[in-house]
Amino acid sequence: MVSEDAPRDASGRTRRGVMLIIASPSGAGKSTLSRLLLQTDKDIAMSVSVTTRPRRPSEVDGVHYRFIAERDFLLMRERGELLEHAEVHGNFYGTPRAPVEAALEDGRDILFDIDVQGTLQLYETMRPDVASVFILPPSIAELEKRLARRAEDDQATIRRRLRTALGEIERWRDYDYVLVNDDLERTFHDLEAILKAERVRRTRRDNLVPLVETLTRDLGEVLSR
Ligand code: 5GP
Repeated sequence: MVSEDAPRDASGRTRRGVMLIIASPSGAGKSTLSRLLLQTDKDIAMSVSVTTRPRRPSEVDGVHYRFIAERDFLLMRERGELLEHAEVHGNFYGTPRAPVEAALEDGRDILFDIDVQGTLQLYETMRPDVASVFILPPSIAELEKRLARRAEDDQATIRRRLRTALGEIERWRDYDYVLVNDDLERTFHDLEAILKAERVRRTRRDNLVPLVETLTRDLGEVLSR
């Protein structure tokens, strides 16, 4: 028995993957929620962006980002190899096109940690594939606390991120779903529910065409008896 949201039906046909964008000001819990989702759900994987930003000590090339030279970034952009791209805090970021297209075709879901500029670009070109979720912090005091707890960033970086957070929060209307992360466990359950529902969205279920054809044919036979 194939479960209802299984990527493949009995004959190996597959639903289309979901492009799940999770956005929030940094410190609102986006990274924790993403990590939980990736750990608990085998059908979703992270999109690995390319960036010209220097690697942080905790980051692994090819896992968190592909760290590339600006010259190579511009070349990829010119060749149309990026699905979307943006400049954030003075660095370039972009989503490589090929792995995303392969995953969607193959019924695998992809998680995106991209900013609002990138999200709006994906709405233009990939809207039926995209589901976007915005995470709000319950308060700014909480946001500051979470940012300060991160040992990696210095004071100036934290202030810059708080300034950026203001502009980000103002864009909450650009997203399909909004969650307030006042309780990690509950927010995570809500996120799982969103993904579960998006997986069975009719527009992703052309793999069910043969089933529907069989059902209507058989029903026609029953009715003509
Ligand atoms: P960070 O440098 O802290 O990893 O990321 C800075 C910002 O860049 C975050 O808001 C993140 O969502 C955004 N970002 C990361 N990768 C991409 C990407 O491929 N495209 C876009 N548009 N934004 C990205």
